[in-house]
Amino acid sequence: MIRSILAIAALLTSFGVAAKTCELSIDGNDQMKYSVAELKIDADCTEVKLTLNHTGKLAKNVMGHNWVLTNTADVQALASDGMKAGAASDYLPADDARVLAHTKLIGGGESDTITFSTAGLTAGGDYSFFCSFPGHWAVMKGKFVFG
Ligand code: ZN
Repeated sequence: MIRSILAIAALLTSFGVAAKTCELSIDGNDQMKYSVAELKIDADCTEVKLTLNHTGKLAKNVMGHNWVLTNTADVQALASDGMKAGAASDYLPADDARVLAHTKLIGGGESDTITFSTAGLTAGGDYSFFCSFPGHWAVMKGKFVFG
């Protein structure tokens, strides 16, 4: 058992495969704003660990926030479909390929941390993040820079 673990470790090292988890954090508040307009990770990040903090006090049904990653070109249509999906679905259509990653919808004082692989992203691609709560995406959005 130990021998095989060492063999695997040696194999990974010899191929130069290094997992790199890059951590990001962003806040949302009761003024319907994110704390940053851009999030950036290096091209060698294999995984992203992102935490969304709702620093406000308002409840999820009044001032809910999430963090949704998608192609910039899909933001508007996805936000529209998210609104149609309704509160029971956290304002996101189920199993939608346009959703590259997302946190759950949270209210004031809550936070959510997600981990996702960058394997489905292209370095240099045009990505954006936004909040899919109805009406928020127009203000609550930003650039996600990979690479
Ligand atoms: Zn929001």
